[in-house]
Amino acid sequence: MKKDYMSHLPACPQCHSEFTYEDGNLYICPECAHEWSSQPVGEQAVDTAKVWRDASGNILQDGDTVTIIKDLKLKGGGGVVKIGTKVKNIRLVDGDHDIDCKIDGFGAMGLKTEFVKKV
Ligand SMILES: [Zn+2]
Repeated sequence: MKKDYMSHLPACPQCHSEFTYEDGNLYICPECAHEWSSQPVGEQAVDTAKVWRDASGNILQDGDTVTIIKDLKLKGGGGVVKIGTKVKNIRLVDGDHDIDCKIDGFGAMGLKTEFVKKV
């Protein structure tokens, strides 16, 4: 019976050797020593993930609790969210106001990461 245990591995793109083996996330060709990623091109982990940081540079995550570091006047006479107000369970979003949250007494609103500090 013919063994085809290597058949799922692609041939070396450089020398077309079929003796490719796998090492972690790499394919390695024993013939020409070429190494390449086993991740399909375009799906490689490109470090483009946005990182949200608070006013002190701490990395924020969904579900974090933060405090407001500056009185924030709400548009339309909605009042002022006072400095020191605790905001629980934030949600990070893309946009000008990059935190979605709910503040007791004010309801749902958007905040800017530069005006909060992680608790
Ligand atoms: Zn090769």
